[in-house]
Amino acid sequence: MAGSVEHAEHAPFPVAARTALADTQLRRNLGRATHAIRIKRAAVVSEMPDWEALREAGRALKERVLRHLDHYLVELEQSVQRAGGNVHWARDADECNRIVADLAVSHGVTDVVKVKSLTTEETELNEALAQRGISAVETDLAQLIIQLSHDTPSHILVPAIHRNRAEIRELFMRTLQEAPADLSDDPRRLAMVAREHLRRRFMSAKVAISGANFAVAQTGTVAVVESEGNGRMCTTLPHVLITVMGIEKVLPTWQDVEVFLQLLPRSSTAERMNPYTSLWTGVTAFDGPQEFHLVLLDNGRSNALADPVGRQALNCIRCSACLNVCPVYERTGGHAYGSVYPGPIGAILTPMLKGLDEAGTLPFASSLCGACAEVCPVKIEIPRVLVHLRHQVAEHKSRRAPERVTMQALARVFADRRLYEAAQRSGRVAQWPLARSGKITRLPGALGGWTSARDLPALPAQTFREWWRERHRGEPA
Ligand code: SF4
Repeated sequence: MAGSVEHAEHAPFPVAARTALADTQLRRNLGRATHAIRIKRAAVVSEMPDWEALREAGRALKERVLRHLDHYLVELEQSVQRAGGNVHWARDADECNRIVADLAVSHGVTDVVKVKSLTTEETELNEALAQRGISAVETDLAQLIIQLSHDTPSHILVPAIHRNRAEIRELFMRTLQEAPADLSDDPRRLAMVAREHLRRRFMSAKVAISGANFAVAQTGTVAVVESEGNGRMCTTLPHVLITVMGIEKVLPTWQDVEVFLQLLPRSSTAERMNPYTSLWTGVTAFDGPQEFHLVLLDNGRSNALADPVGRQALNCIRCSACLNVCPVYERTGGHAYGSVYPGPIGAILTPMLKGLDEAGTLPFASSLCGACAEVCPVKIEIPRVLVHLRHQVAEHKSRRAPERVTMQALARVFADRRLYEAAQRSGRVAQWPLARSGKITRLPGALGGWTSARDLPALPAQTFREWWRERHRGEPA
């Protein structure tokens, strides 16, 4: 269904995570990849004496943008139009896809080339284009792997992180006519085959579609950062360029870009500088695309903006540092989240974009260890937003939901000393058949989930208050 952050009917996180955990190959691929990138990131970040100041600048800039989003978006529209571009506004995924498809159809094309874009994954643009008879060719290597295998991305930056090179070789042998019979799983040879396959598409494409990392309100300049040069080809060779951008990506001035061009590469690919940074402003006669369209997408972002705690999720620059340090993501991978935004950022962004009915289990997909907030280059307080959303999920549930009833009963017991002490005495009696050597290893019924992975300390024979009263009996209170 277009208009969905999820790609299809998806099991809730706890169910999907269990399936992912049973896949040992997946866990090995993920563990190896996230471990390597974590170490590299830490090394390049430690080289920067002003890293904390940069993070603070990034946070402050993003928050200013959110406070004055209406102003900066109108300024951006005017700047792009002044530079010869066209601006379209899309309330939701369907509207966005319709605008892009209409533009492609109006140029009579049956295929378009694409730069990797999470925003178009979010709107399911490729599927919508296919319905209009247009095939979208993904030109980022990892995204091409995902497309050829009819898979969905499992990482923001490395969409095929769950695939190893033997699997990719097998895929290329099966799907690409350019793959020679003696193709090995050497990464360089695999890349050369993909390069040959894509080059023909670049040379013949009349229309390209990209996302955007940033757009500058002051000048109308749009920026795409990438590592392979495919983005540069897409944004320079075709006659028409269509860029789909979430409304939160706008920056006030040209100078602000420098902060993010330092924060992003070190946090994402652990590089000091991004290999390809493409910037364009409207159209330039006889140079690059001669027709430029910028589609500004809301798709739930205004709702997120209305949440005073959760709105900081819109500060995200999609670096994926939080995924690479997350112990939950490292074990389950991205598919378990059922969203194009996996990991810690997905656990907060997806419920706000899609609503709690559809993504209400995601705020619980975290141990709240806080590693994500420590690495986030724009200082998003992910654990705080997770707790905030968990509160909303609890409020959202029926008043008779078992968890809610239990918590209300516990609150009454904890608020009354006599009730609390009576509960302790009852608990000591009730635990008698379960406690062994000072611990309870298995609780009965629905409570069994608590002890499935840990022991519960048994209640002691005497509480501190009882001990105190016994020793001080007869003394004045
Ligand atoms: S939440 Fe922060 S660390 Fe995670 S992807 Fe976004 S910017 Fe990067």
